[in-house]
Amino acid sequence: MNNSNRLQVVTNSTQETQAVGRKIGEMLRSGDCVELIGDLGAGKTVFVKGLAQGIKSKDEVSSPSFALKNIYRGRLELQHLDLYRLDEPGLMIDEIQEALSQPETAVVIEWGVSAAHILPKKRYKIAIKPGQVEDSRTIIVEVPAV
Ligand code: ADP
Ligand code: MG
Repeated sequence: MNNSNRLQVVTNSTQETQAVGRKIGEMLRSGDCVELIGDLGAGKTVFVKGLAQGIKSKDEVSSPSFALKNIYRGRLELQHLDLYRLDEPGLMIDEIQEALSQPETAVVIEWGVSAAHILPKKRYKIAIKPGQVEDSRTIIVEVPAV
């Protein structure tokens, strides 16, 4: 059964990846969850910069690797979590569940694989892979069907 829509796009610069993120950000509604999949340096945080633009936030986006989570405020709130190197998500599970339960909030997670079992089944899955040439990336966007 087809219960999601998948599309693939190739970007050739940081700006282009950010623009794809912006498009998704414009679609975000409270309660939405975005899982970002890709190795270190793939462009996940760049993509989140686009998401923040898409919710019309002017807050600065940075990697929350050491801060647990960042919050960007726009037409809704975007909570940005990063589970990098957390084999045992432990406390982050509570943190994620709390973020997902906030009103007027969407959640984006980098390196969420260790917490995949608690993420909403209906979520955006964004996979970013390096392309053949420098600065190119293949982005696979999986949008949950409504
Ligand atoms: P991650 O969060 O996945 O570890 P970052 O978003 O922090 O990765 O970093 C991605 C790096 O790759 C940045 O330095 C960015 O400028 C560079 N880059 C080069 N080309 C692209 C592209 N097409 N899309 C996204 N980032 C790119
Ligand atoms: Mg990152």
